[in-house]
Amino acid sequence: MSEDYPRTLLELERRFGSEEACRQYLSVLRWPDGWSCPRCAGRRHRSVRRGLWRCQDCRFEASVRAGTIFQDSHLPLTVWFRAVWQVTSQKSGVSALGLQRVLGLGSYKTAWAVLHKLRRAMVRPGRERLHGVVEVDETYWGGPEPGLIGRLTQNKVLIVVGAEEDGRGIGRVRLACIPDLTTATLHGFVQQAVEPGSTVRTDGLRAYMGLTGYVHERQVQRDQAEGEHLPPRVHRVVSLLKRWMLGTHHGAIGAAHLDDYLNEFTFRFNRRKSASRGKLFYRLLQQAVQVPPAPFQDLTRLQPLGGRGVK
Ligand SMILES: [Zn+2]
Repeated sequence: MSEDYPRTLLELERRFGSEEACRQYLSVLRWPDGWSCPRCAGRRHRSVRRGLWRCQDCRFEASVRAGTIFQDSHLPLTVWFRAVWQVTSQKSGVSALGLQRVLGLGSYKTAWAVLHKLRRAMVRPGRERLHGVVEVDETYWGGPEPGLIGRLTQNKVLIVVGAEEDGRGIGRVRLACIPDLTTATLHGFVQQAVEPGSTVRTDGLRAYMGLTGYVHERQVQRDQAEGEHLPPRVHRVVSLLKRWMLGTHHGAIGAAHLDDYLNEFTFRFNRRKSASRGKLFYRLLQQAVQVPPAPFQDLTRLQPLGGRGVK
């Protein structure tokens, strides 16, 4: 299927004014080769009513929303589509309060849940790992900023960043919340984020030693002054990340949800050279029908740091 998406807000408004139009669009994204049963993968089906199909093999009834992030949502798809447009068409995305206002949503809680569900869809299942030369380093979120001594941390969240070298610029990135700076954690991140055989560039932290399957370039900084000394690409990524979190979200991001914000930042950063914002709209909806639903209880449940693994 060729990638078909609205290029402007006006186009979005014209095309997706009805539930039926939105359902049609999602159906094609979800089942590009024709309907298949979410339960038994059977293909024989019958239309029960508009937007609902019954599997002829196991009799399961599935709408285009079932088994996706749109399941159990009382919001019309027309509203979801506009939320996706807001999130993808603006360079910095949108805050929950901003989304509530612009879409006239009944509550802040609803707007917040919409954004968090979309963030879950921002990680593409089976995405490629970083490769080539990759800088890896850690930073903190929360607590007082500069002047921290060494790597001691109090009430701060650790974030590890991997950034591909692309000439003098930055390629793609991966970010994750991590519970500690142990060998197991850091090696685990590298293995999940970086293709074996790549060159991994770290500072002198001992925990990175013994990294197998990679070319490890270790740069020991002897005279470490105050503050953080990050390699140039990681440094740029971290300052963009913090500017975004402090700007769009006013810094109001708790440790429990940081992973979701990192997902959104990564999604946008890795597609920053995309020719069209509409393409991001397309990608996000495509991924939204491929990831399982995230019930509200799941979103609000406190997650242990690093509990959902590194991404
Ligand atoms: Zn079935």
